[in-house]
Amino acid sequence: MALSGLDIYKLLPKTNCRECGFATCLAFAMQLAKKSVSLEKCPYVSEEAKKILEASSQPPIKLITLGTGETKFDVGNEAVMFRHEEKFHHECGIGFIIEDNLKDAEIKVLLNKINQLSFERVGLQLNVNLVALKQNGQAGRFIEALKLVLSSTSLPLVLMSDNVAALRPALELIRDKKPLIYQANKNNFSELAKLAIEFKAVLVVQDTDLDVLSGLAQEINKLGAVDLLLDTGKKSISEKIWDLTQIRRLALKKSNRSFGYPTIVIVEENDPYEEAVEVATYISKYAGVILMKGIEAWESLSLLTLRQNIYTDPQKPLQIEPKLYPVGQAGKSSPVLVTTNFSLSYYTVLSEVEASKIPSYILSVDTEGMSVLTAWAAEKFTPGKISDSLNQFGVADMLSHKNLIMPGYVAMISGEFEDTSGWKITVGPKESAGLPSFLKNVS
Ligand code: SF4
Repeated sequence: MALSGLDIYKLLPKTNCRECGFATCLAFAMQLAKKSVSLEKCPYVSEEAKKILEASSQPPIKLITLGTGETKFDVGNEAVMFRHEEKFHHECGIGFIIEDNLKDAEIKVLLNKINQLSFERVGLQLNVNLVALKQNGQAGRFIEALKLVLSSTSLPLVLMSDNVAALRPALELIRDKKPLIYQANKNNFSELAKLAIEFKAVLVVQDTDLDVLSGLAQEINKLGAVDLLLDTGKKSISEKIWDLTQIRRLALKKSNRSFGYPTIVIVEENDPYEEAVEVATYISKYAGVILMKGIEAWESLSLLTLRQNIYTDPQKPLQIEPKLYPVGQAGKSSPVLVTTNFSLSYYTVLSEVEASKIPSYILSVDTEGMSVLTAWAAEKFTPGKISDSLNQFGVADMLSHKNLIMPGYVAMISGEFEDTSGWKITVGPKESAGLPSFLKNVS
């Protein structure tokens, strides 16, 4: 956990010798706390103090990278319990379990389905992150199935086996691909730690008891395997949420380094609705990686949408570039709809305009990413702002008319806008779902 200026001051020599360039040790400590100077500027810091200060500058939850190349992703490095305190930094990874005792053709079908799971939402691409191969059969079958998986996906891989005889040749096949090994327990941790070090893999550490899990993580760390994920095994949702919350709390609030790793949860429910609910719960609190069985598009889209919302910076709403966007073959006589540059507002309007099949323009006004009503209340969506946008994007020059369609929720600014701008306003529907029939009537 980060130390305060006063905490740091207590670790400094307190001689005020000024060699660091500051008048006092306290002034230097305050700058260190703000991370605006380096500890090396003081030549008199003791080795013991250095260790404490360096440890305090490490993130409380380690950043772990899984995979390589374009599909690699990071988890961890989280600093808060609640999103509104700052933001959550790295989306939890979502992956799918494939069992090696399925027939080759069945594995191929599953891999094809996984490859389809990419969706565009509010201008961003939502993707799944991992494929996990679970060993149920002999070591030879595990390798055959892995070759099949490798031929069909570039996603980071999880090897679900505690059998060293199966894991070693599998890891040889994916050397340097930074896979995840699932899982080390108190019976096999020294062998699996050696494999993780040799193949630069990330290792899952599992025990159902938090104290034992902490001890195991420390032991594995001492052996030299430092990229770990923590798993507390199969439990009920309420027990799992308790574990995940305690691990996060112990890492962030108690600076317990043995819990300072992202977590992983395995969900293998047969009922896809129950599975979706369970995964949604762990996305909200506090899984680093979730492996599940269900590969249906409806399930993934719901979960990826939830994940996108949870991991959006609450202080920086998703926004698009403010400008005039043509939809279809928009021309001089096309209607112009005004909205804000909040991504969700823009894309909702866009989908309804596209559904109407009437070529149109959408004027996205810069409201710093606020939605229509919020921006109006914050005086960011005013007649003046809309006029500025019209001028900035040369809208009048592109049209043979001076008519705008204003969102129904801000009908109250229409009069002032017409009086000051010379444009004529038609008030649109309050809900964008009403746009297709509205556009057909005004066109
Ligand atoms: S160099 Fe070290 S001992 Fe000297 S004033 Fe700076 S912090 Fe204090």
